[in-house]
Amino acid sequence: MAMSDGCNGADLCEYRIPTEKIHETLESYDRKNITVVTAASHSALQIIHGAKKEKLKTALVCDPKREKLYKSFHASKPDKFIYIDKWSDFLSADVQGELIEMNAVVVPHGSFVEYIKPENLLSDCYAPQFGNRHTLYWEADRQKQRTWLEGKAGLKMPKQYKLDAFEDGKLAIVKFGGAKGGQGFFKIKSKDEADRILDEMNLHENERAKITIQEYIAGSRYYHHFFYSPLDKKKEWQVEVEGKKVGRLELNGMDRRDETNVDDLHRTGLNPTEMKKAGIKPSYTVCGNIPLVMRESLLPKVFEMGEKTVKASLELFPGGMIGPFCLETFVTSDLDHIVFEISTRIVAGTNIYPQGSPYADYDWGEKAEMSMGRRIAREIKLAARANRLKEVIV
Ligand code: AMP
Repeated sequence: MAMSDGCNGADLCEYRIPTEKIHETLESYDRKNITVVTAASHSALQIIHGAKKEKLKTALVCDPKREKLYKSFHASKPDKFIYIDKWSDFLSADVQGELIEMNAVVVPHGSFVEYIKPENLLSDCYAPQFGNRHTLYWEADRQKQRTWLEGKAGLKMPKQYKLDAFEDGKLAIVKFGGAKGGQGFFKIKSKDEADRILDEMNLHENERAKITIQEYIAGSRYYHHFFYSPLDKKKEWQVEVEGKKVGRLELNGMDRRDETNVDDLHRTGLNPTEMKKAGIKPSYTVCGNIPLVMRESLLPKVFEMGEKTVKASLELFPGGMIGPFCLETFVTSDLDHIVFEISTRIVAGTNIYPQGSPYADYDWGEKAEMSMGRRIAREIKLAARANRLKEVIV
C-alpha cells in the first residue's frame, strides 16, 4: 500500500487490518447493544463514567491486580471485567473474540499508545476502535507529528536540532519517544553535556534513535482538549474544506500537567550545582493535572490551531482526525502559541472534568456534564443510532 494510506511504507501496511474488514465487523453488530470498552489505566474511570451516563453498556479490560481499584469507584464501575495478565493479551484472539461478541467499541487512551503500540493496534485489533487508528500511529512518531503540525497545518513548533549540529550555549530539551509523559527528559546547553548524559543512560540503539532535541521554550503551558465530530455539520465551529462543511470542532477543556519535580525545584533553595551535589535531578515526569482557563482574547487562535490540525489530517491520512485530540502548547511572553506535541486520543488531563469543564459548560450547558469521556460515548451512541458508526471508526 502507498504512504498516503497513513502507514509507514509497505512493512506496516502489509499487516494492517483493512478498514473494510473492521467495517464488516460493525455490520454484524447489534447497534442497540453497543458496549464501550477500554483498558484499566490512564482515563478509564472517566471513559466508563461517561459511557454509563450515556446509558451504554461498559466493559473494562483489566489486570486482576487492578480490579480492586476499579471496583472501588461505584459510579464508574464497569458492567463487566475482562482479565488480562499483560498488555499484549488485549490483542489475543480470545479477548478480541469476546469484545466483538459484546458489540464492543474500544476507546483507546495513552496507555494503548505506550504499552500496546499503534502498529500492533493496526495489525491485531479486530475489535472496532473509536476514532481513526492511523492517528495513533502519527502521534507515536515525533517526525510525523512535525510533518503534520508544522509542515501541513502551518503551526509554530519549537526548533529541532541534530545532536551533531547542536550549537553550544543554546538551551534545548532532550526528549524520548512514546507516551510515557516526560519521563527521562533533560535540558542541555552543549553537545558534550548531551553526549555525557546519554552515555550515562546506557541507552539501547533503538531508544537512542528515537531521541529528539528541541529548542527549550520558556513559556506557559496550555494543553487544549479538542473533540472533532464528522457527524455534526450544523453547529459552529464548523471546519470547511473547499467551501464544504465537513464537521464540528469543539473545545472541551484545558489543563496543565503537574510534573515532578521540575516545577517545585525552587523550593529546595539550591542552585543547579548545589542540586547536583545533593543528587537532585530535574524531572518532567507527569504525575497529575491542573485545571486551567485561557485569557478569552486568545481563544480564536486556539480554535484556529485546532481547525488547521483537523484540515491537515484530512489531507494526510484517510478519514483524518476523529474524536478527541489534544494540542500541547506554550504561550510565550509575546503571546505567541507554540505547539510542542499532539495526542490523538483522550488525554489524562481531561480527568479533571468528569462533570464538564467551563468550556464544555459554555457549549453544552452545565446540565449536560459533558466530560470528554461522556462526549466520546455520546458520539458512539449517536453514530450507532443513525447507522453512521463507519464515519467515526476508521
Ligand atoms: P511531552 O512528552 O512532549 O508532552 O513533554 C513533556 C514535558 O516536557 C512538557 O509538559 C514540558 O514540561 C516539557 N517540554 C516538552 N517540550 C518542551 C520544550 N520544547 N521546551 C520546554 N519544555 C518542554
